[in-house]
Amino acid sequence: MAAVGAVSRALAELHARLAVVDGGAVADYIPQLALADPAAFGLALVSMDGHRYSAGDALAPLTIQSVSKPFVYALALAELGLDAVTARVGAEPSGEGFNAISLEPGTGRPANPMINAGAIVTTSLIPADSPSERFARILACLSAFAGRPLDLDEAVYASESRTGDRNRALAYLMRGAGSLTGDVEQAVDVYFRQCAVRVTAADLAVMAATLAGGGVNPVTGEQVVPELTAERVLAVMATCGMYDAAGDWLLRVGLPAKGGVSGALIACSPARFGIAAYSPPLDPVGNPVRGVLALRELSERYALHVMHHPGAAPATVARDLHGESVALVTARGPLEFTTTERLLSALADAVAPLPSAGGVVLDLDRVTRVDGASAAMVREELTALRRRGLTVAAVGEAGAAVLDDPDHVFGTRERALAWCEQQVAAAEAPAELHRPPPGGDAQHW
Ligand code: GLU
Repeated sequence: MAAVGAVSRALAELHARLAVVDGGAVADYIPQLALADPAAFGLALVSMDGHRYSAGDALAPLTIQSVSKPFVYALALAELGLDAVTARVGAEPSGEGFNAISLEPGTGRPANPMINAGAIVTTSLIPADSPSERFARILACLSAFAGRPLDLDEAVYASESRTGDRNRALAYLMRGAGSLTGDVEQAVDVYFRQCAVRVTAADLAVMAATLAGGGVNPVTGEQVVPELTAERVLAVMATCGMYDAAGDWLLRVGLPAKGGVSGALIACSPARFGIAAYSPPLDPVGNPVRGVLALRELSERYALHVMHHPGAAPATVARDLHGESVALVTARGPLEFTTTERLLSALADAVAPLPSAGGVVLDLDRVTRVDGASAAMVREELTALRRRGLTVAAVGEAGAAVLDDPDHVFGTRERALAWCEQQVAAAEAPAELHRPPPGGDAQHW
């Protein structure tokens, strides 16, 4: 599926603007991570229909680090159930850093699975006969989320294994408290391997979209974890995913998210899309500076906060071909980021088979509302189609909001189609039969 222009351009524009933002520091407590290029910056977005968009270094390799935590938590929940997992790992925001000592008084349970202590226990819970089998199961699970076979970055793994004494110390404390059972070195080793799995921002966006899509990978169609599991993971990401900045993140961005020390950041817009950013410099809390800014801006601009009032019934989009040369694309309901993305995809598919002088009618008569950012995306796309030589007509009040030329906006679909067919026929006729350019003779609605 070809990328749809307006969404790609929105990501490219955001990428260009944030690429010059300085600040933050590349993590160096794992020596190999200090080699990362601080200028690397990639953005990727995957919709529920499996449409993929990206900007910048979306295919640059990085290690997944803490972004593995929600996915391994999903595997633990899917294998063992919520009660068995929460008996060993809590679901309370710690309000503390990623590597905090977290032992619930009395039980020794770590506060949640998104901080290191909770993640080490969660990893140790994955049923397996040996540590290597446990890691193989985790790698297979991460690969299913990504929709392709992932592998291990041996250098980063070895580097963390050599220097990861704080995580070892956390694990020993938890074993002392009874919340981690079994061999500490083995438990920590599987966790280090899990953190060193190699991905790209494009992979992470597919993984995030799988969680956002009720556990179904939108690219492969595989149900990777049950829907209820995905829902629960999103809940824990929403409250605990951003370490000690989780509350502020929920307030300002409002999307379940997870960041990691390699500069990875994912966010999930339930039933809409998954998004990922990669940029190594981190803020003092340990979250990637440019990724946080990108998500904050996207959320505000496109009203993506999970608590945002969704408006009336969701919009639907349909397309249809009239004759050989004119396509009809119809949308109903409110147009916001997701429905606009779907509309633009339908538009791209509808115009693909048209001849170069073809026409397209965008019927928005039953669109109930359209926000400014969405109208701008549609307008940009229609302008691009007109530049390509296509005749474009729109229907309804929302049509007037997305088409600059009022002469090409009609009150009914029938009038718009009739006008469009007439324009296309005139353009297809031999040159000597050409009538004066259209516009003045359009029927107004
Ligand atoms: N492997 C890292 C650690 O355990 C992951 C931390 C993170 O990404 O926040 O220290």
